[in-house]
Amino acid sequence: MKCTRCGTCCKKGGPSFHLEDKPLIENGIILLKSLYTLRKGESAYDNVRGYVSPVPSDIIKIKGRKNRHTCIFFDENESACTIYENRPLECRVLACWDTREIEQVYSQNRLTRKELLFNIAGLWELIEEHQFRCDYDNIRQLVKALSGDRREEARQNLLEMLQYDADIRELVVEKSGIAPEITDFLFGRALSETISPRNQFQQEQKGQ
Ligand code: SF4
Repeated sequence: MKCTRCGTCCKKGGPSFHLEDKPLIENGIILLKSLYTLRKGESAYDNVRGYVSPVPSDIIKIKGRKNRHTCIFFDENESACTIYENRPLECRVLACWDTREIEQVYSQNRLTRKELLFNIAGLWELIEEHQFRCDYDNIRQLVKALSGDRREEARQNLLEMLQYDADIRELVVEKSGIAPEITDFLFGRALSETISPRNQFQQEQKGQ
């Protein structure tokens, strides 16, 4: 069998990056603004296991088109990959009629932010601090606590976390002049997108 370019795999979402893909980013073939990070502990769908679970380490992925899963490098008119010669490992090994190769590489040698940013003094420390202060295991505990006796304390902690997450992105953009889109890679997706109860907290606050 061979690929019929139906585009189904590209419409299901962009690939995750592995160490082999590092040169694509380092050489500027795929720009940071095209990427986002699923941070350690964030809940995500595991395509091989077939269920949602906290990710064990960073997963760097290509963004999807606005409000859709379709990879931003997929040309829907031509049903073609616009970076075909430089497509990442997962795209090269994926054969929808035989998934054995993708299953073998899927969770191996994942590229993390550390491999790309460790040497950038100042920035890496900020990222580590953000990871510590916006830890997803902690967020899960706080969300759970919203239905318990300490709900007010949990709500305040979550709101402070959301504010910090928003502030650090703004600060880095302001001080370094980078494009705002790059913050999805540096700090993962904004907490305002990934933890939905925010509106609920705000509404509750307004109601007090
Ligand atoms: S990089 Fe290319 S092959 Fe891979 S999902 Fe995106 S459009 Fe498809």
